Amino acid sequence: MAYRAPVAEFQFILDHVVGLDEVVATDRFSEATPDVTRAILDGAGRLCDDVLAPLQRPGDLHPARLENGVVRTSPGYAEGYRAIAEGGWVALSAPAEHGGMGLPTALSTAVNDMMSGACLSLQLNPLLTQGQIEALSHHASDEIRALYLPKLIAGDWSGTMNLTEPQAGSDVGALKTRAVPNGDGTYAVTGQKIYITWGDADFMENVVHLVLARLPDAPAGTRGISLFLVPRNLPDAEGRPGVANRVKVVSLEHKLGLHGSPTAVMEFDGATGWMVGQPNKGMAAMFTMMNNARLGVGVQGVGVAEAAFQQALAYAADRRQGPTPLGDGGILGHADVRRMLAGMKAEIFAARAIALSCAVAADMGTATGEADWTARAAFLTPIAKAWGTEVGMEVAQQGVQVHGGMGFIEETGAAQYLRDVRVTAIYEGTNGIQAMDLVGRKLADGGDVAWRLLEEVEQTAEAARGVFPDLAVEVWTAAEALRDTTEWMLAREMTDRFAGAVPFLRAWARVLGAQLHLAAALAEGGSGPRSALARVFIRRLLPEHVSALAAARAGADDLYALSDADLGA
Ligand SMILES: Cc1cc2nc3c(=O)[nH]c(=O)nc-3n(C[C@H](O)[C@H](O)[C@H](O)COP(=O)(O)OP(=O)(O)OC[C@H]3O[C@@H](n4cnc5c(N)ncnc54)[C@H](O)[C@@H]3O)c2cc1C
Repeated sequence: MAYRAPVAEFQFILDHVVGLDEVVATDRFSEATPDVTRAILDGAGRLCDDVLAPLQRPGDLHPARLENGVVRTSPGYAEGYRAIAEGGWVALSAPAEHGGMGLPTALSTAVNDMMSGACLSLQLNPLLTQGQIEALSHHASDEIRALYLPKLIAGDWSGTMNLTEPQAGSDVGALKTRAVPNGDGTYAVTGQKIYITWGDADFMENVVHLVLARLPDAPAGTRGISLFLVPRNLPDAEGRPGVANRVKVVSLEHKLGLHGSPTAVMEFDGATGWMVGQPNKGMAAMFTMMNNARLGVGVQGVGVAEAAFQQALAYAADRRQGPTPLGDGGILGHADVRRMLAGMKAEIFAARAIALSCAVAADMGTATGEADWTARAAFLTPIAKAWGTEVGMEVAQQGVQVHGGMGFIEETGAAQYLRDVRVTAIYEGTNGIQAMDLVGRKLADGGDVAWRLLEEVEQTAEAARGVFPDLAVEVWTAAEALRDTTEWMLAREMTDRFAGAVPFLRAWARVLGAQLHLAAALAEGGSGPRSALARVFIRRLLPEHVSALAAARAGADDLYALSDADLGA
């Protein structure tokens, strides 16, 4: 079944659950009026339904391949990318002074979700360019901004991020790529980077690499990393892509999924580069790109979950296997199949609303400059990333289950969603690293943001007490339990926190998801499909916070009591 972008769902969440109106009330985003928002969501929905969704299977069946040094892309991807670029979809949130639309991140996050559901492997390309635009806007010199931003924003050139090396994955500080001054303001960049998404493409006029590398006298570790811009083709005096730079794709990876997205091993052999930001401050500059990309990857998970859900629902409506309590209709009349489908729908709503509320906080931070908003966005980012991608994996695997044997057969496409989405929990910082960020850096404020968020959960529960007394009590009680464990975390050493970080993050997602479901049910007026879905989430999925919090508080001793030898190593 073909993917259909859930445009009305985004409109509802933005208008009634996460408070886009507050963003639009600021001077910075006053142009994002309801009419504009509606037009953007409708337009993106049409692009996804008509142009991108038909590319999903061809990308899987005909992977990108390297041919005589040229990255040949999957059938239809060149045309699909052109439609994205010409429609201005690369740069919805990019600064208006360089040709972007300057719209809220909340809108580009909604559009990224839809595009990921339609065709994840192609969507990765503009996603990385968006992150690069943001990094250059904040950290590059005026000359670099003037030359590169208009090209990236127009989608004529695309952006990549080059962190990973064979010995430097999560431990970025171990990277060895070198950058030596050429004496004319440029640098000679030398090293090998692996797993570089959309490292090149046959349809791209130019590809701009942001590369982390070390200056000759740099200190060890992350404190000695600088950021360099290295174009595939060096721009000439008029800004056209000129002679080839000393950078090439050495090979493309063979992957579990995401076949349409070329994942490249890149070789930089004295390639000409320009420094972005300050010497040895490359990680801070790259983090601008990564934070944007982390939220973007979170909604990649949500988008794929949506597509997997739609496909499973259509199959379950059609497939007949004996009488159900609803008669002789499709298997979705069976209680267990309905449990799966209702759970999938409830998970998608919660993960999507968490991501959009993170985007709203980021927009409010940009618009007001208030540190509270920025801190809130920073707290929610690892939750949006890790939880969105966990939901992507869980819903996609439930989607296979709903199909029965046909889920395991490639023709239905259910298995592709599962294969494609798997990597979203790995790249952009594994979900384990996200959870460690939550219990480490994001609690470094002593819990200020956490307490504010929990107060809001309790306020929502309080507001719901008259309409849904049973649900309100469950949400309020869960928030209190989460408060206790957050206090426990704050009192512990890092190793204990890290040992419980992943379940702690899951508990946060469960509680925030429950709050957002309650808010949707209240906005609906207390009865209807959103209230029914909130009930499913709060009765069936929220209780998982209890076991998650128990695991979060287990500490590290039991894990290390098992020696390497005990594990069988
Ligand atoms: C399809 C694909 C596309 C990618 N695209 C890009 C790209 O465009 N640019 C780029 O630079 N990189 C890219 N990557 C690389 C990706 O970001 C890394 O794979 C990821 O950061 C993990 O690094 P690693 O693979 O070396 O795993 P490792 O770092 O070796 O991790 C292995 C396991 O150990 C855990 N672990 C590691 N360190 C710690 C720690 N300190 N504490 C607790 N657990 C830890 C991890 O969570 C993981 O479970 C891509 C990868 C893939 C597969």
